[in-house]
Parts: sequence; structure tokens; C-alpha cells
Amino acid sequence: MDINNLYRQVIMDHYKNPQNKGLVNDGNYLTVHMNNPSCGDDIVIQCLLEDNIVKDIKQAGTGCSICCSSASVMSVSLKGKTKEDALKIINEFYELIKGNEYNKDVLTGDAIVYQGVSQFPARVKCATLAWKAIEKGLINKED
Ligand code: ZN
Repeated sequence: MDINNLYRQVIMDHYKNPQNKGLVNDGNYLTVHMNNPSCGDDIVIQCLLEDNIVKDIKQAGTGCSICCSSASVMSVSLKGKTKEDALKIINEFYELIKGNEYNKDVLTGDAIVYQGVSQFPARVKCATLAWKAIEKGLINKED
């Protein structure tokens, strides 16, 4: 199996079996809604920040396989991290998506399967939507 097929399979696995899917009715969670009109992606990210740790992430919404799988991967990548580490990981993910060098010690796991997205500019917003949403929530949250 070549690496692109492997990456595609990881993306489809997250699309079919999304992690941390479903919202909670809990006012302690930050909730951010974002959409990507060019593709029709529409997602909601919820994040529970406690003691500067991303204790929990929930995600829901509709969209293409890139967007929905990326929301699942984001939730797995950032859950349990400190706010600062989460923001670092998010920034490395943006570098990866742009096709730039990224820090392989910071960005690990399934997130790297999106590195091919840089060749498809129309899909960049799909891949980053969930990451932009949680970034917005984390940055706006007062310490
Ligand atoms: Zn999309």
C-alpha cells in the first residue's frame, strides 16, 4: 500500500467512526460554531478548559470527509493537552496544511495524514475548519 492510500484510509476511518462526536449541554464548555460556505461544511466545537488543560473536546456538524475527519483528528490530537501546547500543535498543523516544514515533535499522530491537502487549495479550509474553531475558543477564553 502506498503512503497516500494509507493516509486516505486513516481519513476515511475518522470520517466513518468519528471520535468525540456529539455535543453536551454544559455551560462550562466553550462552544464555537464555524462554517465554510465554499464547501458547505458546518461544524460546532465544544471545549472544556480546566486548570489550563483541555479536559474534553466535543465536535458535531456536517460536511465533507476532509472536514469531518479533521474535526475527529483534532479532538484526539488536542484532548488532554495544556492550552499552550494545544495552540502550538494547531500552529504546526497550519504549517503542515500549507505544505511547509512542521515540527514533527509537536505535531504527531493521525494529523499528519492531511499533508497532501496542500496540493488541493480548495480543500485547505475543509481541513483547518475544526482547528480554527477550537483555536478561536482557546484564544478568546480569559485565563
Ligand atoms: Zn469541505
